Amino acid sequence: MRVAFIRCVIVAILFLETLDPLFAQKSTIQFEISMNQPATHTFHVTMHCAGFKGDSIDVKMPVWSPGYYQRLDFANNVENFQVSNASQNSTGWRKLPGNAWRVSNSSASFIINYDVKTFRPFVGTPYVDETRGYILPAGVCLYPAGEINHPVIVTIKPYSTWSNIATGLDSIPWIVSIDSIIGEKKGKYVRYVAPDYDILYDSPILVGNLEELPPFFVKGIPHRFIAYKPGEFDKVSFMNDLKKIVETATNLIGDIPYKHYTFIGTGPGAGGIEHLNSASVSFDGTNQTSKQNRLKTYFFLAHEYFHNYNVKRIRPIELGPFDYDNGNRTKMLWVSEGLSVYYEEMIVKRAGLCTEDELFDAFRSNILAYEGKPGRLYQSLTQSSYETWSDGPFGRTGDEVNKTISYYDKGPAVGMLLDFKIRHETKNKKSLDDVMRTLYKEFYQQKKRGFTEHEFRQVCEKIAGTSLADVFDYVSTTKEVDYKKYLQYAGLDIDTTSKEIPGGWLGISARERKDSVFISSVDWNSPAWNAGLRQRNLILDIDGAKPDAHTIKAVLENKNPGDKVNLTVMQGDEKKNFSIVLGKKREAPFTISRKPNMDELQKAILESWLTGSKGF
Ligand SMILES: [Zn+2]
Repeated sequence: MRVAFIRCVIVAILFLETLDPLFAQKSTIQFEISMNQPATHTFHVTMHCAGFKGDSIDVKMPVWSPGYYQRLDFANNVENFQVSNASQNSTGWRKLPGNAWRVSNSSASFIINYDVKTFRPFVGTPYVDETRGYILPAGVCLYPAGEINHPVIVTIKPYSTWSNIATGLDSIPWIVSIDSIIGEKKGKYVRYVAPDYDILYDSPILVGNLEELPPFFVKGIPHRFIAYKPGEFDKVSFMNDLKKIVETATNLIGDIPYKHYTFIGTGPGAGGIEHLNSASVSFDGTNQTSKQNRLKTYFFLAHEYFHNYNVKRIRPIELGPFDYDNGNRTKMLWVSEGLSVYYEEMIVKRAGLCTEDELFDAFRSNILAYEGKPGRLYQSLTQSSYETWSDGPFGRTGDEVNKTISYYDKGPAVGMLLDFKIRHETKNKKSLDDVMRTLYKEFYQQKKRGFTEHEFRQVCEKIAGTSLADVFDYVSTTKEVDYKKYLQYAGLDIDTTSKEIPGGWLGISARERKDSVFISSVDWNSPAWNAGLRQRNLILDIDGAKPDAHTIKAVLENKNPGDKVNLTVMQGDEKKNFSIVLGKKREAPFTISRKPNMDELQKAILESWLTGSKGF
């Protein structure tokens, strides 16, 4: 990454031809991205293409951005599309169905001007307002069909009062404030190079008045955290902790595959997306004062960071090359995402940033979330991986949401079983860490490709020295999970006995948004579910009183099974009254604890699992 401090402008002359063999090729693609009117939420883009053969060229906008497995159809946000030739005369073009435009290339070069309208600040979509611009290149930069391997130059023209840029791209080592090939005489620009579109689309660019937290080096390689509005908190100790996370992860794999890495803090909000040598992370430092929030942030950052290995380099074969027109489906997101959750928890523990109990509690939450939903009876991990495009926020709705599981919940649980089984079968000589290292070496470094489902299992079984059919059954079927069997390999126990939860059970969770209380989820087969309450219903009153999320909880806590609760609810445009008899809820706590009287192998497995040390 680079953060470019535009105030220290060094005037330089740009000789593109001398830069690199990259540009020895005859055709060129260059973008200028400006944001002169940020209040309109619009980026202006100029794309220069020269040296391409053919009377016409099709240019396309990706329908998704890798890492966020949802179809976003970025072409819909393109406005004021215009094409001219090198002499600035308008030339012909027409919109093709879907995400493409056909433009005239009669003089072997053309310039496309267009605006990209943006809608919401989110790590998976481009966004600009008066405070900052977040350029997600897959939603901003067109590509000529068939030219994904073409190098690209991108010039960023920040809004006049903004002074920094954060991105994983390499800047061309001049900050240009002279007229250049762009042909304008004003402005201060920063120019970046992407060796191909895959790298461009995997390198978000944040522009604004940003703050850089104290950087650190791991094995001589710089790691930075550059953020929009990080807030006031102890930045030195935070970055020291982040360094421990990065060191623990890099020691686990044994190699650092990039020359610089940047955490790009996009401001308060939710969500993060991994990239090759950066991660876009929603971040609000003012939250870091509570220990619980700090731990949540460490898990989150460890997750996004570990993805630089697991998914960006250790990857299912289907996740590359990317199909920007359709998206890529794989049955192994449980490996890419689920095992990244597993390792976020292990890395934070091994970095010394959480206690054993906090680690056990993290796994307990994963298991509880999985076991508490009816989807576990319908959908396996492989199905959930494959169907995520239709299961996500824009996918299944209504009663169908109950037929899905999340690989973020079951994935880490199965990862733990797999790890304990390998450790047990090899008398603690090998572990899931060896699987990750082998996949990295054999597929990323040597074969330079992803692995198939069969190859993933083969690597696991080869390292375990035995069949792992019992664990892989939990991947491909909905079979009930026998946690106890695997946890005892590490001398651990888990409480799977269901117990009655005190109080009356309605079965809803509620969330306040702008003075209104909405139902955020309804437990399947609960009294609320059976009465017909559903997610997103607006609650107008509970037992005659206007509610907030807190009063609902208080009302229910004071009632017993068999008592009635009365609710008035808006379902769409319809106001409905419900009188619901509360039930009893039984649930296993899934609390994990050490067993008394462990044998030597159990002790050794637990110790090396917790610390990351090699077994005996
Ligand atoms: Zn992830």
